[in-house]
Amino acid sequence: MSTRGNLFIVSAPSGAGKSSLISALLKDKPSDKQVSVSHTTRKPRPGEVDGQHYHFVTVEQFKALINQSAFIEWAEVFGNFYGTSKSVIEQTLNKGIDVFLDIDWQGGEQVKILMPNTVGVFILPPSKAELERRLTGRGQDSKEVIDARMAQAVSEMSHYTQYDFVIVNDDFDSALADLKAIIRSQRLTCASQQYAQNDMLNDLLAD
Ligand code: 5GP
Repeated sequence: MSTRGNLFIVSAPSGAGKSSLISALLKDKPSDKQVSVSHTTRKPRPGEVDGQHYHFVTVEQFKALINQSAFIEWAEVFGNFYGTSKSVIEQTLNKGIDVFLDIDWQGGEQVKILMPNTVGVFILPPSKAELERRLTGRGQDSKEVIDARMAQAVSEMSHYTQYDFVIVNDDFDSALADLKAIIRSQRLTCASQQYAQNDMLNDLLAD
């Protein structure tokens, strides 16, 4: 019996390790999990591939997609637009595949309203000092960008209470294990099991 996939929102301040956690997660049994590829008007960073990391579009193209109601949510983050395609998410969930939205709190808020069963996971760094060290260590952004992101991080982190789960990414392996535990628990909820184990339950409960 096929089941519908679960939708997860994963948010974090830049530098908390969210992208690395999601990448590591997808290496493990990738056929039952997928990360949604957002549209953005931000320019690609070195190594980023169009259609794989993001769909890179112009502001005009992004606005046209808004007008076509193509996004389940969209937001302006650090002066660029980001949005999540509605149709791709629905199609993927209907195939029984879990979908991960790597989006900010503004997008998370919109998705939670439209799809209340969505599971929100917020990833925190262990300290501000460690966050700054990680942002500097990445070496892809200028000092001004890092300073601006540190200021934004405090604002982003203040929204952690809107999420169902919080993971502190101090030790990477332990944070990854926490994320996997959350995903596993969602497959075991009564509602998920009623759907996935329908035939077995009918048999068990028959007179
Ligand atoms: P970056 O430019 O560093 O890849 O992402 C900047 C921020 O935008 C991150 O917090 C990321 O989660 C968020 N983001 C990426 N895609 C989307 C999206 O489709 N919608 C929203 N609301 N935020 C997004």
